[in-house]
Amino acid sequence: MLCDLRQRSIYGGDDSQLLLYKDGASLPVRPLSMHSRRGLSSDDVRPAGNPVQGKVVEEKNRRVDALQHLFYFQYHILSHMACELRKDYLLDRWVIIAGGRNKRPSEFVKKVDENTSRKTCFFCPGNEETTPPEIWRIPDDAKKWGMRLFPNKFPAVSVEDGEHIGGLLECMPAYGTHEVLVETPVHGKSFADFTVKQMRDVLNAYETRIRELEATQGVGYVCVFKNQGKASGASIAHSHSQIITLPRIPPLVKAEVQASKKYFRENERCVFCDIAKKESAGERLVFKNKDAVAFTPYASRFPFETWIAPVKHARRIGDLDGRRSEFLAEVMVKTFGKMKSLLDDPSYNMIV
Ligand SMILES: [Zn+2]
Ligand SMILES: [Zn+2]
Repeated sequence: MLCDLRQRSIYGGDDSQLLLYKDGASLPVRPLSMHSRRGLSSDDVRPAGNPVQGKVVEEKNRRVDALQHLFYFQYHILSHMACELRKDYLLDRWVIIAGGRNKRPSEFVKKVDENTSRKTCFFCPGNEETTPPEIWRIPDDAKKWGMRLFPNKFPAVSVEDGEHIGGLLECMPAYGTHEVLVETPVHGKSFADFTVKQMRDVLNAYETRIRELEATQGVGYVCVFKNQGKASGASIAHSHSQIITLPRIPPLVKAEVQASKKYFRENERCVFCDIAKKESAGERLVFKNKDAVAFTPYASRFPFETWIAPVKHARRIGDLDGRRSEFLAEVMVKTFGKMKSLLDDPSYNMIV
């Protein structure tokens, strides 16, 4: 494959979203020289030519990939610090500086045999008292739970008050809640091993909690994500998702919303419906059924980046009735299953 530059289809001429493709792998590139700062049309491909223009930025900070296209977490491991949002010197880009997260346990540091890890796992049944007090469990009040939700013991955000300080070193408190949803009592089970019904229950649990948190004062955005495997940034091996609330909509999500509104004004169609329709029939298709599709996006930014979406319009999980959420759950299970078998159970990050 030759080097070429692609633009994410829903972005309208934003240089930062241009990607350098080289030998089939995508790499982030710096903003391009002036002559290339034109709005590229959807599916626009042009030769990268001069490699200086496509200078690869080395990632120096450790980034939690789960929030890659939402928010960058920089783990400045300073245990004395509270959770804080810090602004870039120049750009409207904020990072969460989370003090105390270096105290998190890591089950991945040394290889623990499976039986020992079941006994000592914080998220396994029988060890419930090792987590902060439960918010809810499914089924409700059942001794034998299927899913448990509780606050993260080592949150990246907090509800502590703080000051908004302006100037060159601008910061404000990283106000929010950070919760953990253990989606299965079974240690070692991952989404790839779930049944469609179990996956649908997880989707319903996401929707329930998102709605509860959206109704909470001070919440501007709810982010659900999952780190699976050591390389993903997960510190506990037992399958779990994380739910973070933020006081404001992350700039990249805002940019996506604005770009999709622009697309609607120009085409009178929903951009996500158009993307799902186009990719349902294309060479980047991973799996599809009657109402959901998994595909690798045209301008993937990461190896094996995969998008999963309903084919017919839906604004949120809750818009899908029982049958449609089953279709979505099936595509998820199949996609994670394919990843597990083809890539030998890889680490990954999932963002809802
Ligand atoms: Zn466990
Ligand atoms: Zn749509």
